[in-house]
Amino acid sequence: MIQIQQIPVLQDNYIYLIHDTDSDETAVVDPAIAEPVLSTLKENNWQLTYILNTHHHADHVGGNRELKAATQCKIIGAKSDSKRIPAIDIVVQQQEIITLGKHSLEIIECSGHTLGHIAFYLAAANALFCGDTLFSMGCGRLFEGSAEQMWQSLEQFKKLPLATQIYCAHEYSLANAKFSLSVEPNNAHLIKTIEHIRQLRENKRPTVPTSLQQELATNPFLRTNSSEIKSMLNLPTATELEVFTELRNRKDTF
Ligand code: ZN
Ligand code: FE
Repeated sequence: MIQIQQIPVLQDNYIYLIHDTDSDETAVVDPAIAEPVLSTLKENNWQLTYILNTHHHADHVGGNRELKAATQCKIIGAKSDSKRIPAIDIVVQQQEIITLGKHSLEIIECSGHTLGHIAFYLAAANALFCGDTLFSMGCGRLFEGSAEQMWQSLEQFKKLPLATQIYCAHEYSLANAKFSLSVEPNNAHLIKTIEHIRQLRENKRPTVPTSLQQELATNPFLRTNSSEIKSMLNLPTATELEVFTELRNRKDTF
């Protein structure tokens, strides 16, 4: 059985521990810092097998060296970004499979936020660990990649099963929701979702993971064929990529 534990750290980051009870193997996704990972491992009596890094930013790899020194775990990251992932041991690329016990994690290359960004898809748990690519009601900023690259990355996620749980690396839902509502004010599903996540946040609870089904209904970056969004942007005949590009530009200055 797979167990996933979410650790909120820093301002709004999430670190995820993935534990397979059969093999006793444990992976951590994007350890921004080491200490809370080490204490959670200790609490559960788990040994760290792997660090999985989605991309090179400090709030995703900051704990790499300390965790490796403390646990002798192996660090897995993108082949194309291996020079920027601290202490990397194993490089992976598109469609490659790594295993936790008998469970497969598939690598999905998803450049856009950075070049060389990857996601890890764990079918056994219906889970996608997508770093800073897809967020609840938002997507990552384009620091290195183009709008088209990010668009293609999100298109791959759209093909996963609807029940896929989206384990993104930040709690940005409330801020994202405000922008989403500004470009699709009559989306009833979105209005209901905002009410729900407000309550969660008031009670200091996470709004993540979300699901692919939920995002397809509320996330403007996955809804570039929405006629309301197109008309709000004054782009009634634009392609979906053009709509996406305009959304991303507007979100940057929202
Ligand atoms: Zn980042
Ligand atoms: Fe980040």
